[in-house]
Amino acid sequence: TPYQPNAKRYDSMPFRRCGNSGIMLPEISLGLWHNFGHDADFKNSRQILRTAFDFGITHFDLANNYGPPYGSAEENFGRIMQKDFASLRDELIISTKAGWDMWPGPYGNLGSKKYLIASLDQSLKRMGLDYVDIFYHHRPDPDTPLEETMSALDQIVRQGKALYVGISQYSAKDTAKAVRILNGLGTPLLIHQPRYSMMDRWVEDGLLDVLEQEGVGAIAFSPLEQGILTDKYLKGIPSDSRAAKDGRYLKEEQVTEKVISKVKALNKIAQKRGQTMAQLAISWLLKDERITTVLVGVSKASQLADNVKATDNTKFSPDELKDIEEILKG
Ligand code: NDP
Repeated sequence: TPYQPNAKRYDSMPFRRCGNSGIMLPEISLGLWHNFGHDADFKNSRQILRTAFDFGITHFDLANNYGPPYGSAEENFGRIMQKDFASLRDELIISTKAGWDMWPGPYGNLGSKKYLIASLDQSLKRMGLDYVDIFYHHRPDPDTPLEETMSALDQIVRQGKALYVGISQYSAKDTAKAVRILNGLGTPLLIHQPRYSMMDRWVEDGLLDVLEQEGVGAIAFSPLEQGILTDKYLKGIPSDSRAAKDGRYLKEEQVTEKVISKVKALNKIAQKRGQTMAQLAISWLLKDERITTVLVGVSKASQLADNVKATDNTKFSPDELKDIEEILKG
């Protein structure tokens, strides 16, 4: 059946300005790391994207190696774009990345200009797009001069293959340096994509300050700790969960009693706030204005309905914040 997007899709999702740029992003964005490869059910993937857009989620995040196999999330996304979103391209912010291992040999990994330019060309073909909105360097590469990697990003924008550029997981110090180089080239850094959740707080030690000072946006990935910060593991490990099904990035051993006892305590605070655990974890990130958007993944569309409601309540009392810190420290 042809996709009829929800006419009210812009009525409830709040948008935030991405740093000092012209781009507004929805408070919740959708990532295609899992559940979009050739191993996934295509109908389900398609339903997730339709549901996301119906909720006002205008930003879809990909990377060259999402799948499995590598490249297949971009291929499936391209098929769905063509079927459902062809006439909606200008309502979407689509991103992809290169930086992790993608093809054999020295030119399919890390941060050379050779790799970044070739990889984006491949990504555009897989997705059937003329350009992406944001192209990222996916991880820092200590052995390639930052000047080379940043000049690749600048060149990609000048070629019209991306409108904006981003970096992911760069330290505060390297981010400040990247900003300086990109400003010199005339292609300002739009956004940084760090891992950030209640249980992974590294960005609070300098990175968010740099982003604020430099007018760069922030998109937090794995905000639910891959599912740990939801109610799904409170009674064991369900067979349809990432920890049980996949095991590459979230292993059953990581779902420890200690972690789950913290989530149980956090869940009590969530309940007092009238939220689910997932909503608490997301809104806790959105309390900080420097976070432009929270980048969730979902394995079914119904999880999106849960997650988007986090935007209804992103304010915390000092007592709530204190109680949360105590649980997380414990
Ligand atoms: P999350 O922390 O949001 O975890 C998502 C998983 O949690 C889902 O797949 C689902 O897993 C479970 N889940 C989500 N919502 C709910 C809910 N309401 N109730 C119960 N379970 C829920 O993020 P991801 O780790 O998936 O990362 C999100 C995105 O961030 C990626 O898609 C990617 O775009 C980006 N990313 C970027 C990286 C980088 O290096 N820049 C690295 C990693 C991710 P289940 O299968 O168990 O249902």
